[in-house]
Amino acid sequence: MIQSKQIDRPQLVLVVDDYEINRDILGMILEDDYEVIFAADGQEALDAMREHADELSIVLLDLMMPVMSGFEVLEYVREDEQLSKIPIIVLTAEKSAELQALQMGAADFITKPFDLHEVILARVGRIIELSEGRQLISAAEHDKITLLYSRNFFFEYANRLAQYHPEEHLDAIAINIEQFHNVNALHGYEFGDYILQCIGVEIRSFLATTRGIAGRFEADRFQIYCVHQDDYQALLNRFQNSVNETSPNVNIHLRMGVCHWTEGAGPVLMFDRAWAACNKARGNYQKPLEVYDDAMRQGELLNQRLLNDLRAAIDERQFKVFYQPKYNVQYDPPMLSSAEALIRWVHPELGMISPGDFIPLFEGNGLISMVDSYVWQEAAKQVAAWKEAYGITLPVSVNLSRADVFDPQLEEKLKQLIESNGLDYDDIKLEVTESAYTDDAALVLDVVKRLRDDGFQIEMDDFGSGYSSLNMLSDMPVDVLKMDMKFVRNIENSETDRRLITLVLDLAKYLKVLVVAEGVETEEQLAFLQEGGCDLIQGYYFSRPLPADEFEELIRREIEAERN
Ligand code: C2E
Ligand code: CA
Ligand code: CA
Repeated sequence: MIQSKQIDRPQLVLVVDDYEINRDILGMILEDDYEVIFAADGQEALDAMREHADELSIVLLDLMMPVMSGFEVLEYVREDEQLSKIPIIVLTAEKSAELQALQMGAADFITKPFDLHEVILARVGRIIELSEGRQLISAAEHDKITLLYSRNFFFEYANRLAQYHPEEHLDAIAINIEQFHNVNALHGYEFGDYILQCIGVEIRSFLATTRGIAGRFEADRFQIYCVHQDDYQALLNRFQNSVNETSPNVNIHLRMGVCHWTEGAGPVLMFDRAWAACNKARGNYQKPLEVYDDAMRQGELLNQRLLNDLRAAIDERQFKVFYQPKYNVQYDPPMLSSAEALIRWVHPELGMISPGDFIPLFEGNGLISMVDSYVWQEAAKQVAAWKEAYGITLPVSVNLSRADVFDPQLEEKLKQLIESNGLDYDDIKLEVTESAYTDDAALVLDVVKRLRDDGFQIEMDDFGSGYSSLNMLSDMPVDVLKMDMKFVRNIENSETDRRLITLVLDLAKYLKVLVVAEGVETEEQLAFLQEGGCDLIQGYYFSRPLPADEFEELIRREIEAERN
């Protein structure tokens, strides 16, 4: 460790305040740990700073003083190469002054009437610690764009507030901008910064009237730690309105997650929860505010449990693959043509868990690849077994998640899958969700092209749910479009969706790709799709996803029907 100061002498602190009583109070608090000198106005302060420039560890500076105010001192110090290295904590009763002071280079502030002794000591100690070996504290502790705290400083400060002011009951608020990377990509970083700045201004103006602190990190992650309010909708509206006014021509959506003060939970945990709530609001423009509640807590506990149980589930083969048939409805009667492999988790204690409850969880951390490989393996074995038993080819589609597409081993794994099970490349089809194409289009296109060259057929899953534009489609190497279920769902009651379906069907014909409609449940839906020229139908109308042995019944029935 580098010893930057001699430790035989106590560190020197300059206290600047025009009121003697304030000087006395601070002197009393500090004198056990530091050597303290005093000044009664700005001019005296500057003189003392010049005189002790090499020894001074910190200055505690009142802002409102006769002769020369604290602001003038800050202004002066900022221009002086030597003096600007001495950290300054401002003493103030006004929140608005705090901000201005921080902007002018102050390292921190202490509020009047004075904080608890421990708080003052802690802050002085911390700022000194930070300044040693560092030139500019303010630059490191404040984000330049919004003037809010940086991550470390924010949490350090929040922890202290929680520790020294447990009576305050502070809430944790997380704020995020929807698709901020797109905002940057579409309108430029300068514009992005401008929006961040606007939010920063609004947050600071909010904190001018409420006790609390705020920080910004990782581009668009804002955090506020402030005195409890029952409802934050008005606050979110305020931020949103301010963004709208700043950029009337660009749609920017904010979302907010709140974790109310919780007995025994520190700021770190509370902000984790606020972010969990905020993430839940992702993409939900109708309900951009979420509050962490007991249901979310139960959800998190369940997630934790599922993560813990994954290993055993694979080893003990708790995952079961179900098969849902796809029928070609351009034949009369419709003909069984293929199937989709859909995973189920038969948990020894929790029972059957649907993929909706664990796929997104495992997608979030890459574990999904393990699960997917398992499903592919099972499906491949099954296809081989049916081939062997019935002498038929019934291709099965498996789902690829994003992590799979980005896995450099993917092609190798899939080739291996085909070879080791003695299959042909068209026995296994690959469903890639449309949204994967929007993530990193160039890379996904590249991967998909290679797989197609190997002989795999690619189905674009959930088509119409994402943002891939229609003109992009002509470049996309896909063999099948799987229309998103929501269109089918609305066939009976939405003219717009009916038109969209017709459009997709016509487009597919033009591009010479097949269309699968999934989620078909009723006769009406089927009739509409059939008429529009849809080739393949998957849905409860024909069958729910079935365990392999039950699915086999469908195969036998089909073979029987063909014989007659
Ligand atoms: P998906 O790929 O869009 O699969 C279609 C989902 O719609 C399945 O739900 C299926 O059971 C359901 N479905 C089919 N027909 C109907 C219908 O007529 N009405 C209704 N209401 N639903 C119908 P499931 O099995 O719960 O799967 C949900 C999602 O989980 C899948 O959506 C897929 O994204 C994912 N998933 C399932 N298995 C796997 C897997 O092995 N790997 C990966 N990565 N994801 C999987
Ligand atoms: Ca699928
Ligand atoms: Ca789908």
